[in-house]
Formats: sequence, structure tokens, C-alpha cells
Amino acid sequence: MNRAGIIDTHAHLDDKKFRQDIQNVLKRAAEAGVTRIITMGNDFTASRHACILAEQHPEIYAAVGIHPHEAKEVVPRTLEGLRILAGNSSKVLAWGEIGLDYHYDFSPRDCQQDVFRKQLEIAAELELPVVIHDRDAHEDVLSILKDFTGLKAVIIHCFSGDLAIAEECLNRGYYLGIGGTLTYPKNNKLRNVVKYVSLKHLLLETDCPYLAPQPWRGKRNEPAFMTAVLEEIARLKEMPEEEIAKATTANAQKAFWGE
Ligand SMILES: [Zn+2]
Ligand SMILES: [Zn+2]
Repeated sequence: MNRAGIIDTHAHLDDKKFRQDIQNVLKRAAEAGVTRIITMGNDFTASRHACILAEQHPEIYAAVGIHPHEAKEVVPRTLEGLRILAGNSSKVLAWGEIGLDYHYDFSPRDCQQDVFRKQLEIAAELELPVVIHDRDAHEDVLSILKDFTGLKAVIIHCFSGDLAIAEECLNRGYYLGIGGTLTYPKNNKLRNVVKYVSLKHLLLETDCPYLAPQPWRGKRNEPAFMTAVLEEIARLKEMPEEEIAKATTANAQKAFWGE
């Protein structure tokens, strides 16, 4: 299909599931029109790996950060190391993924909050956009973010709130990352959000290798599969895919590149 290049704003290409065939994964992404991929950091090792991938492949960009699952492992040196990584490469576009996960609670909540705040401080200082992971923690995520007014851009990835929360995010100028969960039969809540919120705030993502869209559900997700998300947004908004592609790409340019 001939369409404007689309951007996968949230991937985990450092995952070992991609170790064997990253070249083929990138080739299929290009064939599907995915021209840029932003790969996340979950911990220090993943962040460093993300930076290496970004240096090796022109279409890959990186974010560095500590996922709430890993918050309990953080020592001051960890964050200093990430700050250095971020400063070393022009391909580090954002700080992420960071936030709160009250679904799994792999780290104690006060520790998650502390590490979240510390990373928001650094991101504000470095003027980097932040990529937020919010699982069953909408209230605390939004209240902590409220304390940080100087953030370059805020992306709530794999958005899982309802329409009221989406509207609060939009009022604050945040972006909502939309991925494979939009295609899951039971997810009317997200379809309702996508249908009614302004296209100006939506970003495409995969969160690969996780959360493959419905046709591939349960399998390894990859950037090429993002076309299923694009198709579903187009269907919900009753607009041509080309328009959705153009708009979400422009949003990603603005959010991550400040253009
Ligand atoms: Zn996440
Ligand atoms: Zn993720």
C-alpha cells in the first residue's frame, strides 16, 4: 500500500525475541510503511541496548529509562548512567518508559513513585519528552505528572483509561499511544476513546514483542503489524487510512522531534 510513512512510537527491539532476525523484522516494517521505530529502555541494560540499536540502524531511535517493574533495583548510579547515555547520542529522543504499574506491583508503590518522580525531574532538565507506562494507576500517574509543568511532551503509551481520563490528558496536551489492544474484541472502552478524541493527540505504537493485534494475538508482535492498528483507527474515525497515517506521523514528529 502506498501511504505516508508511519512511526512505531513504542517498541522493545532489544528483546531477545528479536535477536535472531532483526534484519527481517526491519525489512517487513519498511514494506508495511513503518519508516521509523522508537525503541524503549526498561532498565539500564535495555536502555544501553536501545542506544546501540539506534546507532546501528538509521530507522531506529531510542528512549532510555527505568520501567516501574524495575524501580526497586534503582540506585543513584543507575540514573546517572542513563543521563550519560541520553547525552551521548542524538538518536535518544525521549525518556522512557517510566511510570506506575499497580497491576503487577513488582516494585513497592512508594518506590515506583519515587523513581518515577526522579526520572521526570531528569527528563525536564534534559528537555526530553517522557513516555509513560500507566497500568491501573491513572489517578496517581496524573497527579504526579501535574507537578511537572516543564516537560517537553508527555506520551501516555498503551492508553488504557476511559473517555474522561482521555479528555483530562488531552486538556493537558498529552499524547495517547494506541496499539494492538485497540483490536481486541472486548476492548470497547478504548475504541470509544479513539472514536471520540481528537486525532491531533493520537500516536501509533506496537509495544512489540508484546500485545500483537488480534490477527496475530498471542504471537510475537512486530512493527509491521501496526497496520492493523492503523486500519482500526481509520474504521472507527470513518476516515481514509492515508489521513490517519499522515496525522499520526505529524503528531509523532511534534511529540518526539519537536517539529
Ligand atoms: Zn508499558
Ligand atoms: Zn513498553
